[in-house]
Amino acid sequence: MISLRGACASTLLTTTVTRHSIFFAGSNLQPLKRLRGGAIRANGSLAVNAADDQRLKKGIAEFYDESSGIWENIWGEHMHHGFYDPDAIVQISDHRSAQIRMIEQALLFASVTEDSSKKPRSIVDVGCGIGGSSRYVSRKYGAECCGITLSPVQAERAQALATAQGLANKVSFQVADALNQPFPDGKFDLVWSMESGEHMPDKLKFVSELARVAAPGATIIIVTWCHRDLYPTEESLRPDEKRLLDKICDGFYLPAWCSTADYIKLLESLSLEDIKAADWSDNVAPFWPAVIRSALTWDGLTSLLRSGWKTIRGALVMPLMIEGFKKGVIKFSIITCRKPE
Ligand code: SAH
Repeated sequence: MISLRGACASTLLTTTVTRHSIFFAGSNLQPLKRLRGGAIRANGSLAVNAADDQRLKKGIAEFYDESSGIWENIWGEHMHHGFYDPDAIVQISDHRSAQIRMIEQALLFASVTEDSSKKPRSIVDVGCGIGGSSRYVSRKYGAECCGITLSPVQAERAQALATAQGLANKVSFQVADALNQPFPDGKFDLVWSMESGEHMPDKLKFVSELARVAAPGATIIIVTWCHRDLYPTEESLRPDEKRLLDKICDGFYLPAWCSTADYIKLLESLSLEDIKAADWSDNVAPFWPAVIRSALTWDGLTSLLRSGWKTIRGALVMPLMIEGFKKGVIKFSIITCRKPE
């Protein structure tokens, strides 16, 4: 995500509730329950967990319903970071091309081919925003793309833009939960999640769903916000780091964060292949300063004030993203893998 986002916890684990037990995934290997605000405690009640998740989903949907219009007016159809050369001097006009470059770099990193016999034909865009990536990859590969989002406003806008761009027969959008996707097993040969993973309260369920809808041999691409990997001697982030992430969660409707290493473990546990990851934090450094500058223009400020409290609250935590990257507690990660043939 990006945006003017919000809820959270700064620790790394996720819990998956099954009929009789709680499984977790993460670094500590004990059953744990995530609490809002960053703490994790042993074996909490399942009902509270489900209620928390419902509240989070509702918050995410309302947040994007409220803020997507203003984001589009100022930044256009892509609601994700740009990819920049580290230390480059960046012009205002470079930001939109940097967002396209982010998509291209992710495809390149995952070795998605344009070779006509092997290129993707069927793509899912998990957490699609207003469909910027869906339309881009559909056009690039001539593929069909299904986008899902929790926000009805985004789904409608994404579809309207597809129609306006002559892509209505190729891309489609619907309101659906990434943790319970409305697709059959093995449907897609490219599974794309651009900055939506950080919103997912159950990372194991999230990656399991990505793997389930992937066809044999399909590529899975996850570009997401993570917290730093823990040192072998650490059991969790430091209290000051947790406090910082908690504030970001409150502004952006985020649950507990996890590390890149946690994602890799999860993908390994699902027997996915060719798992690769990279830290692109330095490549996104110019982005938040630019977003803040755009919010501080007359247009930005008046749109923010008109948009509503959730959007304003998101805007207020934007400087904390810069602080988190500078302190090294926030990492901008790409993690890719392939489903076995
Ligand atoms: N990938 C898009 C949008 C990123 S913003 C882009 O790059 O432009 C984050 C998106 O994740 C929003 O569209 C939000 O609705 C979606 N999202 C968050 N949690 C979700 C969930 N559980 N199921 C489906 N979409 C979700």
